[in-house]
Amino acid sequence: MTAGPVDEADRYTAMCDARTALALSLGTSVGDIDPASGYSMSRRSYESVRHSWVSSIKYHGFSAVYEQDSLDKARAFWLERRPEFIDGDDWLAAGMAEHREHWQSIGHPCNRPSCDEHGDGLLMLQAAEEVRQQIGR
Ligand SMILES: [Zn+2]
Repeated sequence: MTAGPVDEADRYTAMCDARTALALSLGTSVGDIDPASGYSMSRRSYESVRHSWVSSIKYHGFSAVYEQDSLDKARAFWLERRPEFIDGDDWLAAGMAEHREHWQSIGHPCNRPSCDEHGDGLLMLQAAEEVRQQIGR
C-alpha cells in the first residue's frame, strides 16, 4: 500500500497538530509555536537547540563534510522565525572554542579523523569530492 499526496498532507497536518499540542502541554505560549510546523519558537527552545549543537561540537568537533548541512538547516529555521535570537550568535565558533579548550585541558587533540580542527579536514573534503564524482552528483 502506498501513501498518496493527500495521505501525506493529512499525516503532516496530524504531526503538526501533535507537535503543537506537545508544545502547549510543555508550557509554550501560543505565540511561540510556529503555525506551519508546530515546532516551538520560544527562547527556551532556541537555547536548547543551540546548547545541543555547541555541546556536541565541544566534545566531538565539527566536520563541514558531515554536519554543515544539518547545522545550516537548524540555523535557517531560527533565522527565518527568530532572527533576533540568532543574529550575531555563531554556534560553530562557540562550539569550536569550547572544543579546543576541552581537548587542550585533556592534553591531546581529539581523535576524530574528520574533525575540521584536529583531523585532516582537507583529506576528508577530497575524499567526499571523489565519492561525489563516482556517483555522478
Ligand atoms: Zn577535534
